[in-house]
Amino acid sequence: MKGLKLVALPENGIRTSFKVGSVEIGKDFLFIAGPCSVESEEQIMEAAKLAVEAGANILRGGAFKPRTSPYSFQGLGRIGLKYLREAGDLYNIPIITEVVDTRDVYLVAEYADIVQIGARNMQNFTLLTEVGKIDKPVLLKRGMNATLEEWLNCAEYILKGGNENVMLCERGIRTYETFTRNTLDLSAITALKELTHLPVIVDPSHATGRREMIKPMSLAATIAGCDGLEIEMHPNPKDALSDADQQLTGKQLKDLIKDVKRTVDFRNTINLNYIS
Ligand code: PEP
Ligand code: MN
Repeated sequence: MKGLKLVALPENGIRTSFKVGSVEIGKDFLFIAGPCSVESEEQIMEAAKLAVEAGANILRGGAFKPRTSPYSFQGLGRIGLKYLREAGDLYNIPIITEVVDTRDVYLVAEYADIVQIGARNMQNFTLLTEVGKIDKPVLLKRGMNATLEEWLNCAEYILKGGNENVMLCERGIRTYETFTRNTLDLSAITALKELTHLPVIVDPSHATGRREMIKPMSLAATIAGCDGLEIEMHPNPKDALSDADQQLTGKQLKDLIKDVKRTVDFRNTINLNYIS
């Protein structure tokens, strides 16, 4: 792909990795887990406890929520960031949360260990330029109708700004299928491994929108070669204020992480680069 000066996989094949807490993202398999939204202090505290017990290494939770309807829960904002930080500190787990507005980049970066750019903002170039200036890693989600080239150009904006700690997150693309919320593009994982040195994360929660599909798709994404997963988990999924149908319980997350780890071990015994 032309014009990708900074994100393209170099000839020497060296890939990016960076440390967040005790995990070396890009080298150690990453488990990001937590609720779609931070709903209350109690909820995120309980979620943090469950995430740590399940074996997750990063806690997620949205404080600023990009919702399709203006009448849906929009997130707690600044107080949500504070609750998430407190939960992360109490359970000694780094936190990730989304920034949706250029004006909030420094506020979010002050609280979060990793800043997330959501699918709806993938091509918000002013936001990308702004997160290019911060000293926190960025997780850049794929826009729901973005090509790989468009997506990688967005990552290029962030690196061009001086921030090299970027990971990509495949979260499903829009197709004609409506049974699932989106269609998980598993082939994107393999393609990105050829195209870029950046770590590739997969979010099967937003990709499928269906709880029962999250584990199978996590296992498939793992075999395809991803560097980690972002999974929605809620202490009481059915009461969640957003994305209730796709959040796992703590117990389900624990079961998923156990089997993904076994799959990573298996993956290490097979050669994914069989054509060379
Ligand atoms: C999220 O992860 O909270 C989210 C809103 O996902 P996406 O941007 O992929 O829709
Ligand atoms: Mn969600």
